[in-house]
Amino acid sequence: MTPQVVIIGAGFAGYNAARVLTRKHARQVDVTIVNPTDFMLYQPLLPDVAAGIVNPRHVALSLAAAFPQVRLLPGIATGVDAGDRVVRYADTEGRPRRVRYDRLIITVGAVNRVLPIEGSTVHSHGLKGIPEALYLRDHIIRQVELAAVAESDEERRARLTFVVVGAGYTGTETAAVCQLFTRSLLRRYPGLEARWILVQYADHLLPELRPYLQKTAERTLGKRGVEVRLNTSVAREDADGVLLTDGEYVATRTVVWTTGVRPDPVVESFGLPAVRGRIQTDEYLAVTGHPEIYAAGDVAAVPDLVNPGEITPMTGQHAERQGAAAGRNVAASLGLRAARAYKHHPLGFLVDLGGWKAAADPLGIPLSGVIAKAITRGYHLYSMPGNRVRVAVDWALDALLPRQTVQLGLVSADAVPLDSADPEISRRIV
Ligand SMILES: Cc1cc2nc3c(=O)[nH]c(=O)nc-3n(C[C@H](O)[C@H](O)[C@H](O)COP(=O)(O)OP(=O)(O)OC[C@H]3O[C@@H](n4cnc5c(N)ncnc54)[C@H](O)[C@@H]3O)c2cc1C
Repeated sequence: MTPQVVIIGAGFAGYNAARVLTRKHARQVDVTIVNPTDFMLYQPLLPDVAAGIVNPRHVALSLAAAFPQVRLLPGIATGVDAGDRVVRYADTEGRPRRVRYDRLIITVGAVNRVLPIEGSTVHSHGLKGIPEALYLRDHIIRQVELAAVAESDEERRARLTFVVVGAGYTGTETAAVCQLFTRSLLRRYPGLEARWILVQYADHLLPELRPYLQKTAERTLGKRGVEVRLNTSVAREDADGVLLTDGEYVATRTVVWTTGVRPDPVVESFGLPAVRGRIQTDEYLAVTGHPEIYAAGDVAAVPDLVNPGEITPMTGQHAERQGAAAGRNVAASLGLRAARAYKHHPLGFLVDLGGWKAAADPLGIPLSGVIAKAITRGYHLYSMPGNRVRVAVDWALDALLPRQTVQLGLVSADAVPLDSADPEISRRIV
């Protein structure tokens, strides 16, 4: 019987696990993917979708087109029965289903991490998927249009104030590209100006990156007029604004919440050993005590052989490579090739700062401005598994033509709650 490999989740890690298994072992294993959508989402370009630069369809990579031989089960895994080697899942119409496996790869990624701050889950939105990006784009346009006809200065100011909480990759890039988006929207309304505030609890932007990238981002955003509030957080949030921990109450209708991610809480129900909410694996990506189950990407606590004693950080770079390594080591566990321990030296980091600006340190070489921007975009095109021409054309059109500024009305605020984080669980995992 052909061994059955089931992959839960088709993001960076799951996609690459499937790629290795189907390219190298197509005749030797049957691969099944359980995933809520029929595409792999290229998350790093979501800020460009929110700013109306990249078409949302172009960051969605069709799984059926990439892997015609893979069985795709659209749904959400709800449990793993390791004894019987069965995954339980709810299909996209909510019906309970089961699928049997010989080898399982868990790559369900992460969800928004929300801090237990009054009002934050009610009045903020995140940026983790296409619906959030489309909602944010429409919301920004709507605020500008309503500000133009506001009946008081107070209302106008609040509508034109945009607050981003958390300055990791997502927050910094979102503030950078969306601030420029509001500038292009406001060309139609001379005299109006937007205020962007980036709130960061640490003493630098991008705390996980090298100082050169932090300083370049701070300088670029500062020069452009984004107010960077370091060592500051949110004390309380309500429908009219946010109270910052430095005591200032900022009237606003827009709070983008990007205080990081935490492993998908569904893994708690899988009953597997965990480290800070992430599934514990060895350096071969095999789950501790379960040699037939592998985990990779944001959801996995993988020993970092480059920094002994640490686990690898939650980044696309690691997820992509761990997914491929999990695919390879699953094949090895079936006797098809040799297993290899996972070890990766990051190749450098890239931060898109909007317009012609970026900060990058490929192979440790510090770069900024247009060169960094070209490298950042080149890297994304290289790293995206498909739709490269479409995305490149989107960028080219954005450079040549005025940005399209109509609302699409596809996503309501209710459809994109920030409640993927349960404050109780966040408290336990932080
Ligand atoms: C806006 C943004 C910008 C980013 N920019 C960068 C960057 O510039 N560089 C970088 O290195 N990283 C970046 N990241 C982080 C990077 O995208 C993640 O580290 C990476 O996506 C993690 O890959 P993954 O495969 O573990 O999870 P994901 O890519 O999140 O994939 C998880 C998959 O599992 C599915 N899933 C979830 N729950 C279930 C379930 N119960 N059953 C079945 N399927 C499930 C999801 O739908 C998804 O398809 C960014 C993230 C965001 C949100």
